Amino acid sequence: MTTDKLKREQVSIKPFFLIALITVAALVIIFISFSQGYRMTAKHSGLIDAAMEIKLEATFAHLWLEELLSGDEYESIEKVKGHLTTSAWYAHAMLDGGTNSEGTFIALEDEAIREVTTDVLAGLDILMALTNERYNSFVSSRPGSEIDIKYDETFKRFIELADIAETLLKDLVAKELTEFRKLHYLMAFLVVLIAFIIGYISWKHERQYVDYLQVLHDTQSKLEELSNTDPLTGLFNRRVFDESLDSEFSRAMRNATPLALIMVDVDYFKNYNDTYGHQKGDKCLKNVGKAIEHLCKRSLDVVTRYGGEEFAVILPNSENTLPLAKSMREAIEVLGMPHSSSDSASVVTISIGVAELVPTAGMKPRHLLGMADRALYKAKSNGRNQTVFVVDDELITA
Ligand code: GH3
Ligand code: MG
Ligand code: MG
Repeated sequence: MTTDKLKREQVSIKPFFLIALITVAALVIIFISFSQGYRMTAKHSGLIDAAMEIKLEATFAHLWLEELLSGDEYESIEKVKGHLTTSAWYAHAMLDGGTNSEGTFIALEDEAIREVTTDVLAGLDILMALTNERYNSFVSSRPGSEIDIKYDETFKRFIELADIAETLLKDLVAKELTEFRKLHYLMAFLVVLIAFIIGYISWKHERQYVDYLQVLHDTQSKLEELSNTDPLTGLFNRRVFDESLDSEFSRAMRNATPLALIMVDVDYFKNYNDTYGHQKGDKCLKNVGKAIEHLCKRSLDVVTRYGGEEFAVILPNSENTLPLAKSMREAIEVLGMPHSSSDSASVVTISIGVAELVPTAGMKPRHLLGMADRALYKAKSNGRNQTVFVVDDELITA
């Protein structure tokens, strides 16, 4: 993965678009499921009510007619016919739809039930005709009379037909309900699936984001490391030296603690390069750097490559640094790297300038740097391969 991927323009809109799209799909599915359920309830509850009302109203008509014919003065033929008409209204509502105070009835679609309902309607017509006939011939329509028997048979057949219509309707409702249930489960499954897909996309996106952050963090750390490190020796570079000297100088001034600086310079290094070549020269600088670093064990110490063949070590809160500086010089000599073109020894040697002070108000870091530099210059001019220490502005060769 490269940092290029962190460009804002390259953040893909696709996952977000996909999430929006499948959210809409889920909402559509939920909407379809609800509307389907509502439509079914509205359609079937009305039709079943109508099928029952047909029988109920016709049964009322039958009963009231019998009451009327047996001399009940409270009943009237209009009331009887009214029940038959209402019964027929419900049969029509089943066939063609309609609205009354009970609600709205949606026309039947099923052909078989429509046919039975049409027969029911025809039965009602006959019942209406027979009702008129019986009412108009009181005497001959007594119980047991021919017309009475005909009426009862017609009514029986009518009720049977109405029962068939109701049963078919209930079967149809049960069938549609089963299908709806299946559809409903499928839709619920789809919604759950969609929820998982959205979750997965979000999770993937989140992970990608965390990866990007990790890359960013790693790159930043690497850049920071690179900007602080001298590539040849792996020690801190001049930038860190400058920053550290400033900050440690301020800290030492604040806390009134001593601060020491050791400046190291490889002797006759130009000659070394001329004699052994640049590559060997590089190797020599690496060895010198490593040896110096090895002797500075405290985590507070800042070992840096000051530039070229010069090294500088900042030692905060450190007194009596002279022994450490001396051990550095000895350590390089002991390494025994041959140097045939050196006037100070047959091996590579270093010269060291050491300065130490407790910074006081008005002092600047360059004070300490100047002191160490003067000491180093003295070590050079004294013949190299030696350590010079500054005490109270006095240079002491150790
Ligand atoms: P002195 O004893 O007075 O310090 O003499 P010197 O030759 O060490 O000092 P001078 O400043 O004359 O030469 C320093 C040399 O260090 C010159 C330069 O080519 C060499 N040098 C600086 N940086 C590097 C480096 O990274 N690699 C190598 N191989 N040589 C370097
Ligand atoms: Mg030099
Ligand atoms: Mg030198």
